[in-house]
Amino acid sequence: MPMTTSKTTSQAHLATEGRFFAQVNMMFDKAAVHTEHPSGLLNQIKMCNSVYHIQFPLQRDDGTIEVIQAFRAEHSHHKQPTKGGIRYAQAVDEDEVMALAALMTYKCAVVDVPFGGAKGGININTRRYSERELERITRRYTFELARKNFIGPGVDVPAPDYGTGPREMAWILDTYTSLTENTLDALACVTGKPIGQGGVRGRTEATGRGVFFGIVEACNIAEDMQPLGLTPGLEGKTVVVQGLGNVGYHAAKFLQEAGAVLVGLAEYKGAIHNPQGLDIEAVMAHRRRTKSILDFPGAQNIPNSADALELPCDILVPAALEGQITTDNAPRIQAKIIGEAANGPITAAGDTILNEKGVLILPDMYLNAGGVTVSYFEWLRNLSHVRHGRMSRRFEEHSARRILQAVQTLTEKQFTPEKFARVLSDVAFGASEEDLVNSGLEDTMVSAYQEVREISKHHNTDLRTGAFICAINKIATSYLQMGIFP
Ligand code: NAD
Repeated sequence: MPMTTSKTTSQAHLATEGRFFAQVNMMFDKAAVHTEHPSGLLNQIKMCNSVYHIQFPLQRDDGTIEVIQAFRAEHSHHKQPTKGGIRYAQAVDEDEVMALAALMTYKCAVVDVPFGGAKGGININTRRYSERELERITRRYTFELARKNFIGPGVDVPAPDYGTGPREMAWILDTYTSLTENTLDALACVTGKPIGQGGVRGRTEATGRGVFFGIVEACNIAEDMQPLGLTPGLEGKTVVVQGLGNVGYHAAKFLQEAGAVLVGLAEYKGAIHNPQGLDIEAVMAHRRRTKSILDFPGAQNIPNSADALELPCDILVPAALEGQITTDNAPRIQAKIIGEAANGPITAAGDTILNEKGVLILPDMYLNAGGVTVSYFEWLRNLSHVRHGRMSRRFEEHSARRILQAVQTLTEKQFTPEKFARVLSDVAFGASEEDLVNSGLEDTMVSAYQEVREISKHHNTDLRTGAFICAINKIATSYLQMGIFP
């Protein structure tokens, strides 16, 4: 992927502000002082348990051979399996997967998903490879993970991340299934699969939908909006989104559908701005047609994509990569709320500046946890070998019909057939798999927000520190209850 000026600038600042894993640990330490756990235990929670660095050959379509660098980090085994996405990007290295794996550990704890954290990555620019080459890379990577016991339904379960999606997950599943003896549970070795291959409905949009639920929840609390000079509710709030991939596109779509106004959209080649609003579907159609979001009718082009982060808006949603907001641009950020859809978009020092400015930051480890939450639902579906809702859907439908009939009997009133049919269609339906997944996701995001907010208020901290305290306490309890082997 070509590097933009924004990436280059932030990389320079990242170099002085500390590497990604160190940044995560700085934020951890800031929260740890609010807990009473022994320092040895805190160190154990913080460290990355295992990192596997793989180098393997790829035979390119033209017959030449290239060496591929790949990684898998399992940050914490306090719960098993470990879980985390696989990223295909040029910046992937050992430090990045360790940092992302750590964030996965804390994220799972915050939303009560019973997994340890992991992350994988392959250092490639996907645009330089054909589909057949990407398939060979993915299959060889899976083979290498399987050889070292870094993948399996009860061991470590990958999922999509930056640069990967259902297609890659299907290749991983197929490769793993051909290698394992436990074919019964093999479907649960990876999540984010296509629906026909054991995927769960709602997984593709889950991270973006979770981002949306989290932002709505935050915006609905009048007490928190008042210091920002904002009225409660999402309706009419202006939004800038950086990165229109899986997470950014879906977050933008759900925010727009709920009445927010998308005033800025940024992609790696540049950004577009229109204070009157940009229709996300029209922008995506324009991008499919012209291969770029630039020159969208009615919008102003912003050649340096990173400048879009500094546009005036109520809510900024960075949904691309880490290290986008640093000490360099943090002072110029005008957004009142930042919803961290990407992992680690703000450096620790950038975070301090924004907190001092009074910006409400919805931290990554909470806000983008929708993906792993629905991945958990997919894993459960794969292990139970039955679609969620399959056994209860008709039963629920018939129960609602019986209740309606009982209302008629008790009130001794006969509804007209038209009225009965109308009410019936409103209330007498069983939940589909998608209904269940979305409602489980909403419940998770709403209750986790309340929990993190309560902890933050109790300790008088920002939400990120609150989320870390929440995660540290849950993981520490788990370690203390289990004891240490041997
Ligand atoms: P993706 O590959 O689907 O999309 C990323 C998008 O960002 C692409 O369209 C890319 O062109 C764009 N982009 C890259 N650099 C940019 C830049 N400098 N400025 C503007 N746009 C840029 O990836 P994704 O799955 O949407 O992941 C995005 C982020 O969300 C990552 O940080 C990832 O770790 C995080 N995340 C993803 C998931 C998931 O379920 N996919 C879950 C949790 C967190």
